[in-house]
Amino acid sequence: MDPFATRAVLKRRIYLVTLPLAACLAGVVGVSGYLEPGLNTRFWWIPVLVAIGLVIAWGAVWRLPERVGGTERWLLGGSVVAWLFVLTSTVVPVAAADVHTLVRAGMWLPGVVALAYLALPAAAATGLAAAGWSAFALAIATVVAFQGGVATPDVGTMVEALLVHAIVLILMRGLVHVTDGTQRHADRWESVAATDALTGLPNRRAAEEQLRRELGRAERYGGDVSVVWFDLDRFKEVNDVHGHEAGDAVLREIGAALRPELRASDVLARWGGEEFVAILPEQDRAAAARTAERLRATLEAHPMMEAVGTGLRVTASFGVAWWRAGEAPRDVLRRADRAMYRAKEEGRNRVAVSGPDGTPDGEPGERAGAVGRRVRGR
Ligand code: GH3
Ligand code: MG
Ligand code: MG
Repeated sequence: MDPFATRAVLKRRIYLVTLPLAACLAGVVGVSGYLEPGLNTRFWWIPVLVAIGLVIAWGAVWRLPERVGGTERWLLGGSVVAWLFVLTSTVVPVAAADVHTLVRAGMWLPGVVALAYLALPAAAATGLAAAGWSAFALAIATVVAFQGGVATPDVGTMVEALLVHAIVLILMRGLVHVTDGTQRHADRWESVAATDALTGLPNRRAAEEQLRRELGRAERYGGDVSVVWFDLDRFKEVNDVHGHEAGDAVLREIGAALRPELRASDVLARWGGEEFVAILPEQDRAAAARTAERLRATLEAHPMMEAVGTGLRVTASFGVAWWRAGEAPRDVLRRADRAMYRAKEEGRNRVAVSGPDGTPDGEPGERAGAVGRRVRGR
C-alpha cells in the first residue's frame, strides 16, 4: 500500500479521536473561567472559541479525509495564535499575573507541539517546539523579574513546569525521529522488494501490482491496457557460448536498451529468468502490436557491446494481449504468454498478437509474421 496514504489514514484517525477531546477540554476551561471570573480568567471566551473551532475542524476532517493536510495547517495556525494570546494575556499586566494561571497556560504547549509534528516536517516542528518553549520561559522570566517578591515555592513550580515541558518536547522529538527512521526503512525495503536485483527493473511482484492498479483504473474510468510478454530466443546458447556472467550482462543491457522505447507511464519489468513483461496503459491492440514490434526491432539491432565485447545480437519472441473489460490480470498475462509461445513456434524473433475476442491464437490471417510485416510496413 502507498505509505503516504497509510500515513494520511492514520493521521485522520488521530484527529478524529483527539479533536473532540481537545474541544471538551477547551470548553471546560472556558466555562470554568466564566463561572469564576477573576483578573486572570477574563479571557474565558477564547477557550470557548477554540472549542467551537475544534468542532468545525473535526467536521472538516470527517467529511474531507483527503484534505487532512490543509485542515491540520489551519488547526496548527489557529492553536499557535490562541496559545500565544492566552500566554500573553496571562502575563500582561505583569503586576496582576498569577503563577498558577501561567503554569496552566503552559500546559497547552505539548498539545500544540504534537499538532506541529503531525502537520509539519519534523525539522520545522522542532523549531516551533523550541520557539514555544522559549516563549514560555520568557513569560516566566518576565513574571519573576518584574512582579517583585514572587514566593520561592511559586518560582519552584514554574521551573518545574519548564523542565517537565523540556522533557516532554525532547521525548516527542525522539519519538518522531524513531518513527521517521522506521518509515525510511520501510520505504527502502518496499523499493528493494519491488526491484529486480540483476537488472534494476521492476520485478514480477511490482509488475503484478502495477497491472492490478492499471486494470482497476481502466475498469473505473474506461480506457485500454495492453500487455507485451517476451522471452529471449535461444538464450541457453548465450550462456553456453559466452558464459553465465555474459548472460547476466545481456539481461542488464536489455533493460537499458528497451526502456527508452517506452513511455514514462509504461512499465517494463523482468518477470523472471529471461522473460520480460511490458504493461502499456492507453494502448489498444494495434498500438501495443506496434510497440512490441518496435521493441523487437530495437533489440535485434542492438549490439550487446557491454555484455559481450564483440557485439553479440540477441533476439526475443513477443506476445501481445489487449485487456478486455472484466478480464482478470492473470488471464490477460496468460494470453500474452500464449501468444509469445506462438511467436516461438512460428520461428522466433517475431510478434504474435492474441485475438481481439480473447481467443488465444488470434484470428486467421493474424499470424505472427503477418502482424510483424503489417506493423513494419507502416
Ligand atoms: P527459447 O526461449 O528460444 O525456446 O530458448 P532458450 O534457450 O531461451 O530456452 P529457455 O527459455 O527454456 O531457457 C532459458 C535459459 O535462460 C535457461 C537459463 O540458462 C537462462 N537464464 C534464465 N535466467 C537467467 C539468468 O538470470 N542469468 C543467466 N545468465 N541466464 C539465465
Ligand atoms: Mg524462458
Ligand atoms: Mg528463452
